[in-house]
Amino acid sequence: MSPFEDRFDHSAYVSMTMEFRCNLRCVHCMIEGTMDHLQPQSRDQFNELMSFNREQKQWRGLILTGSEITLLRDLPELITAAKQSGFEHVRIQSHGMHLGKMDYCEKLISAGVDEFFISVAAADAESHDAITQVPGSFEKTLRGLENIEQWQHTISITNTVVTKNSYKQLPDVVRSLSHLKQLAQMEFWFYWPMSEKDEKDLLVPHLDMLPYLQEAVALAKALGRRVEIKNFPHCLLGDMKGDLVNGQPQLFIDPVFWSEFEKNGFYQCKHRQTCQSAECLGLNSAYIDKFGWEEEILVPQYNG
Ligand code: SF4
Repeated sequence: MSPFEDRFDHSAYVSMTMEFRCNLRCVHCMIEGTMDHLQPQSRDQFNELMSFNREQKQWRGLILTGSEITLLRDLPELITAAKQSGFEHVRIQSHGMHLGKMDYCEKLISAGVDEFFISVAAADAESHDAITQVPGSFEKTLRGLENIEQWQHTISITNTVVTKNSYKQLPDVVRSLSHLKQLAQMEFWFYWPMSEKDEKDLLVPHLDMLPYLQEAVALAKALGRRVEIKNFPHCLLGDMKGDLVNGQPQLFIDPVFWSEFEKNGFYQCKHRQTCQSAECLGLNSAYIDKFGWEEEILVPQYNG
């Protein structure tokens, strides 16, 4: 069991969305159409959550997120307030580019961050930068991940969104980060378009992606990493079934986000009435629109 196992209990963490600007332009961005009008949580809402947790001690960890949280000028002050409010762990979700500067890492870590959730779009500079549409972004993100290794109490978690542009690179993503000692978990999130259609043509059939996912997961585990897979049919995962974790910490976000999120139309499957999988999100509307129901390859589960 990982010494960091307690960092991955989603019920012990709470997320607050504090910033909706971003300085990357990822092709797969799921909120690019709504980023301009979604509102971050206010300082009053943040302070209320701090007071609540100081009194109730409901959560051990706070996740500060957004589009790109490091664009928030007073991020160190929020982190310090979270630590003073009794949060044992503070995590930031980021593209990691600003962590390429050591003095910025020092500032966040001195304030109290001990967990970094970093988006890695692909395995090399050319592919990653083509996805983020910002030249030099891969180098900065990688340097950021390497910089935070200097503080041994910190952990990192990576997230790779799996699309037509990245699925063949999954094993190489794991290899390209194999030197990171404090990378505790790698996550693979199968893209959802926040729409009934795959307008950007990024979805790939599950069976085409599966061999790359299997290889990536085996490599990550051989390196001692935990793995979380999001939004993949449970019944296709074989011995990776235990790695499907669709749950997330409670999220405080502009309610408008949820009406956008509903457009995905998750939980559709021809076997839904008989399948007992408690973890599966089934298929979404855009996937069905593009590839059909795939009922002949999906298999109902009978033991949750
Ligand atoms: S049969 Fe359908 S609901 Fe059941 S695990 Fe497979 S995809 Fe999910």
